[in-house]
Parts: sequence; structure tokens; C-alpha cells
Amino acid sequence: MSNRVVIIGAGGVGNVVAFKCAMNSEVFNEIILASRTKSKCDTIAKDILEMTGKSIETASIDADNVDELVAFFKETKPKMVINVALPYQDLTIMDACVACGIDYLDTANYEHPDTAKFEYKEQWAKDEAFKEAGIMGLLGSGFDPGATNVFCAYAQKHYFDEIHTIDILDCNAGDHGYPFATNFNPEINLREVSAKGRYWQKDENGKGEWIETEPMEIMQVWDYPQIGAKDSYLLYHEEMESLVKHIKGLQRIRFFMTFGQSYLTHMKCLENVGMLGIKEVEHKGMKIVPMEFLATLLPDPASLGVRTKGKTNIGIFAKGLKDEKERTIYIYQVKVHEECYAEVKSQGVSYTTGVPAMIGAKLMLEGKWQEKGVFNMEQLDPDYFMEEMNKQGLPWNVIEVEPNQSFIVG
Ligand code: NDP
Repeated sequence: MSNRVVIIGAGGVGNVVAFKCAMNSEVFNEIILASRTKSKCDTIAKDILEMTGKSIETASIDADNVDELVAFFKETKPKMVINVALPYQDLTIMDACVACGIDYLDTANYEHPDTAKFEYKEQWAKDEAFKEAGIMGLLGSGFDPGATNVFCAYAQKHYFDEIHTIDILDCNAGDHGYPFATNFNPEINLREVSAKGRYWQKDENGKGEWIETEPMEIMQVWDYPQIGAKDSYLLYHEEMESLVKHIKGLQRIRFFMTFGQSYLTHMKCLENVGMLGIKEVEHKGMKIVPMEFLATLLPDPASLGVRTKGKTNIGIFAKGLKDEKERTIYIYQVKVHEECYAEVKSQGVSYTTGVPAMIGAKLMLEGKWQEKGVFNMEQLDPDYFMEEMNKQGLPWNVIEVEPNQSFIVG
């Protein structure tokens, strides 16, 4: 039976998803890559043919338009849709999937273009509609969210009776040689990192609450295996919203990402002059959104692959109880940017997002992850996913941390 998939979005991540699906053609036997700019799909299709010998189809689509999506799905009849366009398109693509009875997967939660705020509320609200349509929606199947949620579920299943604290750590020690560029869509990236920080913890009465911080207010120096010590800043990140619901006994969860001083100085300067604004301003009689204009000027993340050198290390640092004894583990994955480029013409950030998207889709098509309704990654059996990560280019490790050993060095 044909497992036809439609991949929407032909940016850095779409490139990796298309490559990896083509490299798993026994499962993904028909692939259509569709995006706003068809020429980008065609370039990816050409690279895939040259490097893997596999052919994929391409199409142009405006994923903001539900009617257009519905007509496209009725014509192409895919078994599932992998959404790697922008978070702005999540709801329209989900609605079209419900209308056509097609499984759905994405890598980032919905965000409204006019409000720099992301949350699962509107996607979770579609759970009933997905159940009624007899389809599955898998939310956040990238690396973080995505693999990090699966790491938490794996820790819960195999290492702990109760997890008390989780620190999600995202370290990119890659260098692309530009004074300033973002590793994924500039608009989404800069909205995320310039926003206020937030983490979750239980108060003395056991009631969970979100604590807000100023942007980049909390910094810790974490010592990353295979990379070394890096300044890591507390950010709000979407996977925490679902993990606080699904991890047993949790008392605190935080998210840290590494940034170099040059990145932070550029960002502060751009912010100070208003270039990170997301409201329209008038310029010589034209309406422009400063952040969108900035995104036009910055290097396309998909073009960074050939220049980026170094490693990423993303993982979860979890503390809790096993057999009434305290236990701490670090589950992590290290990827070398140059290896990603050699395999699929991409830098490591797109690679570590695109491979989990393909794995999530593969498990759904194989029936290993097949439920009705809308799900976050940690709600499904982590073992299949962890096994696939080892096979598909994202091998991981677990370190058992000794009581006197610290990963925070400053
Ligand atoms: P890019 O900006 O490189 O690519 C986005 C693609 O979506 C482009 O091809 C763009 O088309 C297309 N697109 C935008 N709007 C529409 C539309 N209305 N209709 C059809 N296509 C559209 O982004 P990335 O590849 O870097 O990121 C893709 C997604 O992955 C984002 O949602 C991002 O947040 C997510 N992500 C998730 C991570 C994780 O770990 N979970 C990490 C990194 C990214 P065009 O070329 O015409 O602009």
C-alpha cells in the first residue's frame, strides 16, 4: 500500500525531512514536497536525486489558505502531512487535515504572526476534531521540542520512579563564520530568544507556577560533554508546557540555550533600534514589519550548511528517585555540523530537527505510534523513537551522574 506523504515547507528543515524520507523509501514510498516557493522544492528534489538516486515530486502551496490545502490534499491523497513550514501555518494545516481525514505532524507549536507568544492551547483544542475524524496529530516532533520530550519519557520509563527536576540543555557550538545569523528561521528564532524567560516550579504547597524572568536574566555555565563549558541562558521553550502535564512528580523544569557574546550584542543592538519589532511601521509610504525586513537581510539558514563547523549537544539533565534512592542522569545527543552537510547538505540545527520529524512520521506510518487525537511526544512509547534515533543519524548517550559530580561550572 502506498504511503504517500506531503511535506510542507522547503527551508532548512524541509530539506532534511525530504532527504531522510527519501533515504527511508521502504516506508515513504511517495513523497511530495510543497512550499510557497516551488523553485526551492525543485532545488531540494534535484539534490536528492543526485545524492540518493530517489525522485520526489514538488508543488507550490499557500499553507495559510485552508481551501487551497483541502483542494491540494484531495487531489494528491496523502496518508500524512509533515508540516515544516512556519508555526503560523499549524492551525490551517491541521484544519485541512481534519477536513480530509489525514494524519498530521509538526515541529513547532502555533504562534500568531502578530503576537510573540506560543502555546499549545489552540492545537490541543483540536483533539476532539482529530478523534472524530479518526486521525492522529503529533505535535513538536523536532529536537527541542521533540527528541527532548522523548528523552524525558525514556528517563521516566527506564531510570526513575519519580523525576523531580529537569533541565533541558541546548548547546550549539557551531560556527558559521558570519558576524550574525540564525540557525533556523530568523523571525521565529529572534522572537523566541528576545522574549521574557519562564520556568516552572512547585511552591511550598505543591502548587505549580510559572516564574517569569527578564530576557537572558539567568545565565549558568554548563559543561557539555564533547564540547566543554558554555554560557547557557534560561529561556521559555514550548516543550515545558506539555512536560509539566505528563511527567510524574515533577517539581521544577527549566530550559537553557547557549549563546555567544557576539550573538547577544548584535541582538541587543537590533532590539534597541527597533529592528525586532513585529508591528507594522510606515517607511516612505510603505508598510513594513521591522522583524520581517531583518529576516530578509539575514543569511538564509538553509545556506549556512556549507559554512558551519563544530558540534551541537542537546539533552536533558534529570534528577529524581529510583528505588527510594536519589539519581541524576544526563541523556544527550551530539551531532557534528560538517557530517550533516556531507549527508544531506544541511547544518546541524536543521538536521537535528528534520531527522526526528521523519522518525515521528515513520513510526506513525508503521503503526507503532498510531492513536486518534492530538499528542505530544512524551505521551507515546519512547523506545521505538530512541531506537530509530540510533539508526537514523542521531545516536545518543546516557551519563549516570555521581552525587559529587557537577555539570554547572559557573
Ligand atoms: P525556513 O524559514 O528555512 O523555512 C520555512 C519554509 O516554509 C520556507 O520554505 C517557506 O517558504 C515555507 N513557508 C512559509 N510560509 C508558508 C506558507 N504560507 N505556505 C507554504 N509554505 C510556507 O524555516 P526552517 O526550515 O528553519 O524551520 C521550519 C520549522 O521548523 C519552523 O516552524 C521552526 O520553528 C521549526 N523548528 C523546530 C525546531 C525543533 O527542534 N523543534 C528547531 C528548528 C526549527 P518561502 O521559501 O517561500 O519563504
